[in-house]
Amino acid sequence: MTGRVAVLAGPSGVGKGTVVARLRDEVPELWVSVSVTTRSPRPGEVDGLNYWFISDSEFDDLVARDGLLEWAVVHRTARYGTPLQPVLDAVADGRTCLLELDLAGARQVRKVLPEAQFIFLAPPSWEVLEARLRGRGTEDEAAVGRRLETARTEMAAVTEFDHVVVNGELGATVADLVSLLRLGSGLSRPTPSVT
Ligand code: 5GP
Repeated sequence: MTGRVAVLAGPSGVGKGTVVARLRDEVPELWVSVSVTTRSPRPGEVDGLNYWFISDSEFDDLVARDGLLEWAVVHRTARYGTPLQPVLDAVADGRTCLLELDLAGARQVRKVLPEAQFIFLAPPSWEVLEARLRGRGTEDEAAVGRRLETARTEMAAVTEFDHVVVNGELGATVADLVSLLRLGSGLSRPTPSVT
């Protein structure tokens, strides 16, 4: 039996990380890829769970020996990539594999695995995304402007995807993804009781 690969992408600030963490907790049969990155861990992040945190030379080495399914420089700062072998192993095991990627990564996967399922996570509105990107107002206006500019380009890519899921209420988003991915045990919506 062979499994399937699904790619979840969407603009920065839309909440991909939160959605994937919830899916991972609620749907044990889903296999979620752990990316490698050259950025430093944030407080609370665990090596091998959130990412594999590796050095620039380790990343170069992986690229040189074709160890990555795709990779990209994100936010012009760090490199991120999907280790290839674990994806091949999970597919061979018949698992449904989820890759959470930026737009550049999703486009690369589209080239090598056109049969994968491409899902775009969209904000409920531009205003909601803008508010999330502005965050707590700690960044200067120029930095916020750059983030909004990037988000506008990312939003325009929605037409490249097979499905769009609007990330409004978290439980409903997770339930929509469980159904799109045809997974059995989505627990995020209560089953109606029969009386
Ligand atoms: P963060 O540093 O906030 O965890 O992630 C920054 C961005 O990198 C997010 O948009 C996330 O989707 C993207 N990203 C995470 N892992 C990968 C990967 O393996 N490949 C690519 N292309 N992007 C990734």
